[in-house]
Amino acid sequence: MSGGDKLDFEIRPNPAPVAAAERAALLANPGFGRIFTDHMVTIRYAEEKGWYDARVEARAAIPMDPAAAVLHYAQEIFEGLKAYHAADGGVTMFRPEANAARFVASANRMAMPALPEQAFLDSLRHLVEIDREWIPTADGGSLYLRPFMFASEAFLGVRPAKEFLYVVIASPVGAYFTGGVQPVTVWISPNYTRAAPGGTGAAKCGGNYANSLVAKAEAVAHGCDDVVFLDAAERRTIDEMSGMNVFIVLDDGSLVTPPLTGTILAGITRESVLMLAGRDGRTVTERPFSLDEWRDGVASGRVREAFACGTAAVITPIGRVRTPDGDFTIGDGGPGEVTMGLRQQLIDIQRGRAEDPFGWVHRLR
Ligand SMILES: *Cc1c(COP(=O)(O)O)cnc(C)c1O
Repeated sequence: MSGGDKLDFEIRPNPAPVAAAERAALLANPGFGRIFTDHMVTIRYAEEKGWYDARVEARAAIPMDPAAAVLHYAQEIFEGLKAYHAADGGVTMFRPEANAARFVASANRMAMPALPEQAFLDSLRHLVEIDREWIPTADGGSLYLRPFMFASEAFLGVRPAKEFLYVVIASPVGAYFTGGVQPVTVWISPNYTRAAPGGTGAAKCGGNYANSLVAKAEAVAHGCDDVVFLDAAERRTIDEMSGMNVFIVLDDGSLVTPPLTGTILAGITRESVLMLAGRDGRTVTERPFSLDEWRDGVASGRVREAFACGTAAVITPIGRVRTPDGDFTIGDGGPGEVTMGLRQQLIDIQRGRAEDPFGWVHRLR
């Protein structure tokens, strides 16, 4: 493609899709990220050609040269969003335009070419249409879409690559919480940070996740579910988790979340929570929030609730915080009222069960 933002997709249906009965058996208990649909989208990029060869084809292994730059220097970005069966039988996605824009922002930070936002949206639409039978109908189920792009050029020199592959795969997922929402216990690592000022914290890149895994393992070794990273410069204020943003609920019903200073990923769920809470008349403040303020606020009763948010789990209550200097429990350790109220509101909008005041729901058919 040269000029214009519209790519023509060649559709090559999978000649041997999973049989309906087998698919139904898989969809009965999909879990997260372990089952995949029959198709994928691929689009190639070369510096001299731009974007080309946009295709919907059978999901298959990707042949790759062992010198492909991504395998050495990790030039890779991704996105994550969900497609749903709406209450009225249609198919919807939640704010895919925001994912398209963030994919461009991540590409810019990682010195990668920007996929036109329309091509990103078209790629999702094509995949969801051809694999729509894979969208779970069970309550809480959805089709998780995973667009990603990596440096495919075979070259070991250190510079931005000149060839890339963009791919979208899809994975049916079940309700995140089976048997009721479970609050998590989070670990404050004394050893590891996630992102430094000027670094890649605001880009949705695989490297940020690779970096977080050892901290997550440390959390698990301390009996925790996840890590809340402190800021890298002073190790004083909270940033976010490895894949979720963090909110604190105060005793006057107001919300606090760390500001987007470049070390935090700008979550679409985070922004949606800010907008919904603001519309409900709650004060929402984006400001630095220290671990000391968290601990002292819990002791004084000023801090009532805390939660994490992101596409996969939507909103997850934080029940307990564990640090090398001691633990503290938020409220009674159970899911808070404000947390669960926001969670329900967001899910109802996503599922088409409630009015969509901000036009977030993108209807495919
Ligand atoms: C993807 C991600 C989030 C959540 O973003 P959503 O758009 O809400 O899914 C938060 N933090 C990090 C580091 C992420 O990669």
